[in-house]
Amino acid sequence: MKRKLNADDVPEPVDTGAGQTPAQSKTGFAGLGLDARLLQAVAKEKLSEPTPVQVQAIPLAIAGKDILARAKTGSGKTLAYLLPIIHSILRRKASSVRPTKAVSAIMLVPTKELATQVTTAVKTFTSFCNQDIRAENINRKEDLAVTRARLLECPEIVVGTPNRVSQWISNDVLKAADLVHVVIDEADLVLSYEYEDELRSIAAALPAGVQNIFMSATLRTEVDKLTALFCKSGSPVVLDLSEQEAAEKPILSQYIVKTAEDEKFLLIYAIFKLQLIKGKIIIFVADIDRCYRMKLFLEQFGTRSCVLNSELPVNSRLHVVEEFNKGVYDVLIAADEREVAESGSRKVKKSEDDDIEDIEDAAEEEIKGVDDVDVDATKPVVAPPAKKQRKTGNDREFGVSRGIDFRHVACVLNFDLPTSSKSYTHRIGRTARAGQKGMALSFYVPAELFRKHRPTSILQCQYDEKVLARITAHQEKHGAKLEEWQFDMEKLTGFRYRLTDALRAVTRIAIREARTKELRQELINSTKLARHFEEHPEDLRHLRHDTESHAVRLQPHLKHVPEYLLPSGGKAAVQQDVGFVEFRKDERAGNKIRKAREVNRKRGKGAIMKGKRTAGDPLKSLNARGRGKK
Ligand code: ADP
Ligand code: MG
Repeated sequence: MKRKLNADDVPEPVDTGAGQTPAQSKTGFAGLGLDARLLQAVAKEKLSEPTPVQVQAIPLAIAGKDILARAKTGSGKTLAYLLPIIHSILRRKASSVRPTKAVSAIMLVPTKELATQVTTAVKTFTSFCNQDIRAENINRKEDLAVTRARLLECPEIVVGTPNRVSQWISNDVLKAADLVHVVIDEADLVLSYEYEDELRSIAAALPAGVQNIFMSATLRTEVDKLTALFCKSGSPVVLDLSEQEAAEKPILSQYIVKTAEDEKFLLIYAIFKLQLIKGKIIIFVADIDRCYRMKLFLEQFGTRSCVLNSELPVNSRLHVVEEFNKGVYDVLIAADEREVAESGSRKVKKSEDDDIEDIEDAAEEEIKGVDDVDVDATKPVVAPPAKKQRKTGNDREFGVSRGIDFRHVACVLNFDLPTSSKSYTHRIGRTARAGQKGMALSFYVPAELFRKHRPTSILQCQYDEKVLARITAHQEKHGAKLEEWQFDMEKLTGFRYRLTDALRAVTRIAIREARTKELRQELINSTKLARHFEEHPEDLRHLRHDTESHAVRLQPHLKHVPEYLLPSGGKAAVQQDVGFVEFRKDERAGNKIRKAREVNRKRGKGAIMKGKRTAGDPLKSLNARGRGKK
């Protein structure tokens, strides 16, 4: 087993499944000793080669070891724990004469979105053994009596956030004593989501000998805390994939643009209208209002987008991610308020726990730095919005930049720079996943341009330069470079008057209106159809989230860019050769019509213009003289 491990452990980027050679597939997943039904599912999902973290973690997990694995985002950590756990449950079931009904594994995740994602992954990979393995997401929005009933059915795997799991353990519906495996996914994040008390109570309830698996993108102090809490019988095996990752070819290009506050909008307009970036794009903005401002602004120019923020009901959020992954829409505007909230909560933690120090890198230092900046500033930048978010009852289990598997994202655009290097890392982790190329583009406002355009100014950008310096240092430490995006703003002069027009139209009232309208609409959809949504995800296609808000009078002329407005020399004149990422739709999402056409073509049915097929085509066979007449 060990030899195979080493042989497989090639620091190559992961193939997405298409175009592998048959020789590779022999050593791939089959070499990891997984159950045949799991291998079938892996093949069905067209995964040819396990990723490095899967190669290392799966055999150890099958052997029952406690594991702490650190690998970058998008490296396939979910399957690294799912497959061996499902395998072990299947083995136990096959070997016991009278299998007892019990929950065998709990998978703890920081957000509801991730709970759904992991549950879906379990369902996908148990498609050939779904009689034996059932998974329940206990974060579904439903009556508690329903969750209770589902738990009493003893699904083999339970997925949920720590607070939900600890609730059901404490009222003894979820029998902790029966558990064999415990996973903490995104281990570096669960504590920052203020789940410490819940995690403590879960850890206390676990039986001796339970297998603990921790998956993390960093090896920060928090992770140590967790492993100490859960691994009572000794330290876990630590798998750190840093070396392999350092040897990998960079697949993520990172760019920055120095810009004035209003110029951000000019830039984004140019990016879409001149198609400077192609493919699916996630635009991160500082808060919910800005989400809608951006949506309305882009609508003016005929660019449709959908928004994702903590205010939307969870079903809508899940649906947005799902549709975005399927390629139904290409532009997603996300308010990364969690990042703000987190910085707020960190302040409290800092005083409680002075010894928080960074062992992995400078990230923690950077966050402290930002906090210090806030404390010194006359007007606090970071903490107040956090409190506001809490008061408005927004969802604390929400996280856009953490762990969610957005697929085939060509570009992450930080319209508003995050306030910490850690948050930057998580945001950019939404692109360049599973071996694909990606690009991160970040706007930053220099100090001398801050507050120079009140209508578009936000407090968060006050320290952009300082934050950027930390981000750059952090990325450099990991061998990545942030390059200036070569962009000639002068060439966009022709667009400026349109920008003023469009910005003026997006008033605060319009934003509020769009926000409440969307919320109202989503709430109606969400509550009425919640169950149906979860059970029939395919039925959701008609409910698009990127429809126009109509909160702002549309100005059709803005949708088109006449020749005279284009910078002389066209696209190339404004932008010099940046990492262009082409658009790739999820092949597996499949377009039924296209597939059917392909099948027909192969069968020779596609030859409409040739011979017999013409006769079957009413448009070609009809003639003025009637049927069959020449
Ligand atoms: P992480 O948790 O490390 O951020 P995920 O587990 O969410 O990453 O996986 C990222 C993406 O990679 C998912 O879309 C997943 O389906 C895909 N993936 C996982 N394992 C493989 C593999 N062996 N080959 C190709 N793609 C994979
Ligand atoms: Mg993950």
